[in-house]
Amino acid sequence: MPDTARQTATTLQDVLRFDNRFARLPERFYSRVNPTPFEASHHLVSFNPDVARLLGIAPDSVAPDEWIDLISGHCLPAGCEPLAMLYAGHQFGHFVPQLGDGRAILLGEVSNPQGEKYDIQLKGSGLTPYSRNADGRAVLRSTIREYLCSEAMHGLGIPTTRALAIVGSDAEVYREQIETGAILARVAPSHVRFGSFEVFYHRKQHDAVQQLADHVIAEHYPGLATHDKPYVALLEEVVRRTARLIAQWQAVGFAHGVLNTDNMSILGLTLDYGPFGFVEQYQPGYICNHSDFHGRYAFDQQPGIGLWNLNRLAQTLIPLISVDEAKAALEQYEPLFVDHYLELMHAKLGLNNNDDTTQELISDLLSAMQANQVDYTRLFRALCDFDSHPEARNEAIRNLFVEREAFDSWAQQYRRQLEREQSDDASRREAMRKVNPKYVLRNYMAQIAIDKAQQNDFSEVEKLLEILRYPFAEHPDMDHYAGEPPQWANQIEVSCSS
Ligand code: AMP
Ligand code: MG
Repeated sequence: MPDTARQTATTLQDVLRFDNRFARLPERFYSRVNPTPFEASHHLVSFNPDVARLLGIAPDSVAPDEWIDLISGHCLPAGCEPLAMLYAGHQFGHFVPQLGDGRAILLGEVSNPQGEKYDIQLKGSGLTPYSRNADGRAVLRSTIREYLCSEAMHGLGIPTTRALAIVGSDAEVYREQIETGAILARVAPSHVRFGSFEVFYHRKQHDAVQQLADHVIAEHYPGLATHDKPYVALLEEVVRRTARLIAQWQAVGFAHGVLNTDNMSILGLTLDYGPFGFVEQYQPGYICNHSDFHGRYAFDQQPGIGLWNLNRLAQTLIPLISVDEAKAALEQYEPLFVDHYLELMHAKLGLNNNDDTTQELISDLLSAMQANQVDYTRLFRALCDFDSHPEARNEAIRNLFVEREAFDSWAQQYRRQLEREQSDDASRREAMRKVNPKYVLRNYMAQIAIDKAQQNDFSEVEKLLEILRYPFAEHPDMDHYAGEPPQWANQIEVSCSS
């Protein structure tokens, strides 16, 4: 990097005060390793001012070159203690005793003026002791997908890791074809995963499991520290957050794609965006990951997989809690999930009651959508304009169904229910527009941004970031992204390779 970048980097050091609480844990939890700086020419692909503000930094107060220096691994501010975290994980149901950050390096954490602390992790920053046979790099394509989708999820009100910036490079990276390397700067209060516990449980290092649980409680769930049984309370809290998270995914139509236990956040955040997808033509068994041959992580499997993964976490805590306590905590999952999912689905239809009749209304709608392959996001958004007048034909919604009569008979039931609730069209519509997004990150949208970015045009990344931050608002100049996806969208295949 030019000397000027080095000199101005002091400004970044002034505003980014690093600590690393994870590095206070003994060395068996991680390996200390510095990022491998990009040698090839590199540049800022996108910078997210929202996340800079979250870190307590006025976006314009730091020159872009300083961010580039930090993210590309050329500058390590004082207080950074770069490390790769160790973890294990159940991948597609099979236990892998050691994984770890193979291409991610935790620089440390920064505090904002409110005292909130956030990890800054560089994904794609070079080899670590956990890289196995892989190259420690990420490609531009996958960093753009994660960058846009994590911000889209945040815009939707769904807990997630965040994304500060992408630095791209001319460095060649080999996947199915030659691509270019990029680094994503990811931000979250913690990157501890279920797999972080599994690695020590399976090594029979139960004291390490306890140490990690103590760390997570002290740093991230301080309210649980004074609990009679803090480890039981921790499990209950993770069960609660995971149930709510997955209920939100199901309600918005998000499929994660690789719900291995190493991709499950101990804070209940959406973590590690790979071959994700939003359901388009509604199909409960939608599989977004083309490497998921048996549909283990199909859309409608996610709630059950959430519980399966929580079972793996609970098992690691068995040295600290009784089997009965673990079972009781896990039993809370299903009712928590169902209640929250139903609450969200009722809100999507603008219903105030929640009983057998309204639940049937929801399942009847989903069945009709499935039979007619109706686009999930478009239909719910269109329903925000539902006119409950008995003569109204609601053509725009009706036309989304192949068999128009399927909609007509459902609309009759819906109208009756709205009447029963004395629902007012205007206020219901307003409320529904706040919970039914107009925009989600469809894979074809990400692909357009990627194709342009690969030609060094980052304008679509910026445009998408802008609409996905406010997915419930109208963005008239971007209306095409709220319409029917183009034909070629069906050809997109996403898999684990990134
Ligand atoms: P993922 O499927 O991205 O969650 O990755 C599973 C494991 O493989 C994690 O431990 C990653 O750190 C590691 N990994 C994935 N891609 C790479 C890569 N290009 N280089 C090194 N490690 C990788
Ligand atoms: Mg992962």
